[in-house]
Amino acid sequence: MTEYDTVPAAVDDEEEIPGDHPRYQDLLTRHRIEEGVKKGITHLQGMHAEGRGSAFDYLIGEETIESADEAARVAAATLLLAETPVLSVNGNVAALVPAETVALAEAVDADIEINLFNRTPERMAAIEAHLKQHGATEVRGLEADASIPGLEHARGTVDADGIYAADVVVVPLEDGDRAEALGRMGKTEIVIDLNPLSRSPQVADVPIVDNVIRAVPNITAHARELENASAEKLQAIVEDFDAAGALTDAERRIRQGELE
Ligand code: ATP
Repeated sequence: MTEYDTVPAAVDDEEEIPGDHPRYQDLLTRHRIEEGVKKGITHLQGMHAEGRGSAFDYLIGEETIESADEAARVAAATLLLAETPVLSVNGNVAALVPAETVALAEAVDADIEINLFNRTPERMAAIEAHLKQHGATEVRGLEADASIPGLEHARGTVDADGIYAADVVVVPLEDGDRAEALGRMGKTEIVIDLNPLSRSPQVADVPIVDNVIRAVPNITAHARELENASAEKLQAIVEDFDAAGALTDAERRIRQGELE
C-alpha cells in the first residue's frame, strides 16, 4: 500500500488531488468530466469517450510525444495563416479545457463555436455560460442557421458565419462522421485525439495525438512563439509536415512503448 492508495477515487474539489500523484493528470481529467456531467455540460456518453482516451494516454505514457509536439507547432502555424479559424467545442472539451480554449482563441484570433453530438438547448446554454465564466466574450453555435452537408439534422447543425464559413477548424475529440463531412467541405482540419487509429485523426490535415489537456495549451505556446514569424516561414512549417508519419509514430509508441 502506498500513500497514493489513500487518494479517494472521487474528490469534491480538484485542489484535493495531490499535484505529485503519479496519475495526477488522469485524476484531474476524470474529476473535470464528472463535474461536467453534474453541471449539465458533458453528456454521459462523454464519460465513455474519456475512458477510451484515458486508456490510450496510459499507453502513450501520459506525456506529449515529440511527433505530437511537432503537430501542435504545425497547428499553430496553420491557425496563424488562417483567415477565419474556428475552435469547435463539445461537452468534453468545455469541461476539460475551458480557459485554455479561450487563451488559444485569443492567441490565434479564432472564434469559439459549440458543436454538440447530443444537442439540447439546456446543454448549449450551460456550455456557453461555462465558457463565459472562463473568459470567453463571444460564443458561436447558438444561431444554428446552417448545416454540414451529409449529416443528419442535429449533428450537422452549425453557424453560417462560424464553422460553416471557416477555412480552418480545430475539432478536438470529434466523431469520425463529422470529421469526414467537414473534410468533404474542404476545411483544413486540426484534430486532437489520443487514438491514432480513430477516423477523425486519420482524415485530419493536422492530427495531434495527445491529451486535449496538454495539446491545447501547447498549441497556444507555439502560436505565441511564432507570433511574429513571416507568412513564408509559417507556410514552410505547414508544408514540411507529414501527417501520416505523425500517426504512424504515435501508433508505434502505443504498441511498442518508448524505444531506447
Ligand atoms: P471514430 O468515430 O472517430 O472512429 P470513436 O468512436 O472511438 O472514433 P468517439 O467515441 O466519438 O470516437 O470519441 C472518443 C475519442 O476521443 C476517442 O478516440 C478517444 O481516444 C478520444 N479522447 C477521449 N478523451 C480524450 C482526451 N482527453 N484527449 C484527447 N483525446 C481524447
